[in-house]
Amino acid sequence: MEATRASVSPSVLFVDQSGQLGGAEFALLQLAGHCAAYSEVVLLSDGPFRTRLEALGARVQVISDARVSGIARQASGWNCLRVLPGIFRQVRAIAARARDFDVLFLNTQKALVLGVLGKPLHRKPVIWYQHDILTRNHFGRVQLTVVKWLVRFAVDQVVVNSQASARSLAALTGVAADSVPVIYNGIDAAAFSRGEGADGAIGAIGADGVDRADIAALRHRLGLPADAWLAGLFGRLAPWKGQHIALDAIARLPGTHLVLVGAPLFGEDAYAQRLHEQAAALGIADRVHFAGFQDDVPAWMSAMDVILHTSTEPEPFGRVIVEGMAAARPVIAAAAGGVTEIVRHRHNGWLVKPGDVGALAEAIGTLRDDPVLAQRLARQARDDARSAFSVEQYLEKMTQAIRRVAR
Ligand code: UDP
Repeated sequence: MEATRASVSPSVLFVDQSGQLGGAEFALLQLAGHCAAYSEVVLLSDGPFRTRLEALGARVQVISDARVSGIARQASGWNCLRVLPGIFRQVRAIAARARDFDVLFLNTQKALVLGVLGKPLHRKPVIWYQHDILTRNHFGRVQLTVVKWLVRFAVDQVVVNSQASARSLAALTGVAADSVPVIYNGIDAAAFSRGEGADGAIGAIGADGVDRADIAALRHRLGLPADAWLAGLFGRLAPWKGQHIALDAIARLPGTHLVLVGAPLFGEDAYAQRLHEQAAALGIADRVHFAGFQDDVPAWMSAMDVILHTSTEPEPFGRVIVEGMAAARPVIAAAAGGVTEIVRHRHNGWLVKPGDVGALAEAIGTLRDDPVLAQRLARQARDDARSAFSVEQYLEKMTQAIRRVAR
């Protein structure tokens, strides 16, 4: 009986460390919503992610421990020792829940550690969705060493969000990069297609029959200037996301406005404050709009003339890039990591060297001054987002991987 059910749709316990809504959590939201009838989600901290999961019908349990949540990515061995009691408690709690499911699906690195350490207790197959590029730029030596040994000896299946992430896993653990299934995030194209005219014309890009009044009304509703040329940068405020690079570039482009959509989700408040100070120091505070975290990203993207991606470190995937493409907006992105698997320069977007303010300013200026080029890129971007990064392909590949590991 159990075997028959597992071959159809194995029951899954998902674990994610965050209560906040980052890219990994949006990816899990779609999957857990899809599997809601035969799954449960354990979160290691509470937050808006729980509410969003529950709104999709997912059962959620929060198993939090303040000290374990507070342990930093660059944690030393000593710090890890201090939180051992909390770690044991969480390991046992996750293992106790996992016993009731066919598969344990770990969506973040802390979830990986806690879920795998409990394997002798739960004895369930473990799948890890790796959303990160595993290098010292982002993670401490201790954390990488732990991940390496867990992957080598205790994880049944790793799936990755890009080839770039797979290469970093290969370099860390010695597994062959091409043996790890790449499952790109899926973006709901329908949700992002609101900026298009009835005839498929693409909005806000040029004088091509687009109803500018709609865009003006939308901008009015969002509190954005109706007539300005708007560059939008979406994502949490964090130094490696490079919002400071965008500010410097906008300062070189008189008349162009920058809209920063996102909040400092993981304690990056000092950086957020520095961005305000930087805008003031550059004398562009009136052209920079800090929107904070927004739920309706499709609407905000529709209001933009161009979408920027400015990460200074290699981006493992970059949902915001595909979202901008699905919204039929021209996208300028930093060419590193998974981004080069999504954006083809001058074909469906524009690539610039990460951290290069001059190149970014030039690219923005080029697309602002050539609406026909911008529109051509945006059309191709929209088609590529739909064909290569659909929610359907994501869910299909993910459910296949879960089934394989459940056998
Ligand atoms: N996002 C959002 N509201 C905001 C800013 C960002 O919902 O105000 C979403 C964005 O639409 C995207 C996700 O957060 O789906 C960020 O994912 P991405 O892969 O770009 O970055 P990550 O958070 O994984 O570093």
